[in-house]
Amino acid sequence: MLFPLEQNTPEFAVFTALNAELLYFLEHVIPAGGFNRQSLSDTSLGLACWNNKKVPNGKGLLTQDKFKALHAALQRESEAIRQRLFEAMRGNQNFADLFQQRSYDLLEFVPLALMKLLQALCYHLYTHTKALVDVVAAAGGIDINGHFTDFKTVNGQVCRACGLYLVAPFRANIPDEEQWRADYDHLLCKSKYPIFAVHPKNLFPICQTCNQDAKKSKDMFFCDTTKQPRQSFYPYAEGASQLVDLEIELDDISPKVRVRLESEDPVLKSKLDTWNDVFEIKNLVEGRYLPLEHYVSDRIRPRNLLDLQAQVARELNPPSVAALKRTEGVFWDHKLYVALSRINLDFVWSVVEFQEQEHGAPGGEAILAGA
Ligand SMILES: [Zn+2]
Repeated sequence: MLFPLEQNTPEFAVFTALNAELLYFLEHVIPAGGFNRQSLSDTSLGLACWNNKKVPNGKGLLTQDKFKALHAALQRESEAIRQRLFEAMRGNQNFADLFQQRSYDLLEFVPLALMKLLQALCYHLYTHTKALVDVVAAAGGIDINGHFTDFKTVNGQVCRACGLYLVAPFRANIPDEEQWRADYDHLLCKSKYPIFAVHPKNLFPICQTCNQDAKKSKDMFFCDTTKQPRQSFYPYAEGASQLVDLEIELDDISPKVRVRLESEDPVLKSKLDTWNDVFEIKNLVEGRYLPLEHYVSDRIRPRNLLDLQAQVARELNPPSVAALKRTEGVFWDHKLYVALSRINLDFVWSVVEFQEQEHGAPGGEAILAGA
């Protein structure tokens, strides 16, 4: 995370309730026995899950059917396995502790066929059950669009993982409940950690680039490439914003922006590296300013060297918290100005001036004129 989530980030009550239901189910499947209404909790949420089942000739299994299938599979395993699965979920509900311990092999003892049924149920709770009218009502009535609005009220609309993009485009003239919503990222991916598929601390919205392009199913606790355990920022308390910097590398042809992710503390360094690996921060930020002369020319738009120097000096004041929350890229752009202030701008200006002479005004005028 670039910025940790705010302390008062609202939990999505539907996830809290579904997570409790899953835990209840795993506890009550431990003794030998068949699947019945007591396999789910005696609450309106338990009833809503129970009532969602396949109708005769209906397509696909629904929530009750998924619970039932997993129940049957678990009953074919030993009681020790059932107990262990329950303990794995119950013993790791505190995510602050889990991020200290980094138990990436939490479910290694689960046989593959059982894992598939566990995943099937947990995916279903996340993708389907969370939106059921009775489930939302049982959890207090706020659906995921409502939670997304509440989340943005507290955390702003800029992606907390990268700071580069909005979590979702904002449209004027559209009510909150109809705004486009960002996907919720499973911090610990649901394929490897299905028992956290609806854990309220494991899910929050991030931008599409972070979620779908960069992160996918990368493991926060274990490097998929080196196969080594690794540290990871706990998103509710830790972020990288105080630890990152930009610098400008000057070679003979073109100045280049480099992201520096350094810390002498090996734990912090590992957390920075994990964040960079999972969200591709370095590549995305360096890509934003590549080539630098285009960025300077298009965004800063200096008239001459003196103007460039004046604009850089003016932009050195750090952005406000409000600006960081509402305008994408502001954090990184400020870092860029700080980096520009540390170098002699003559060379940057000469490159800008050269490329403007080469490819400058005529084409721009033609486009603006609609030619
Ligand atoms: Zn992002």
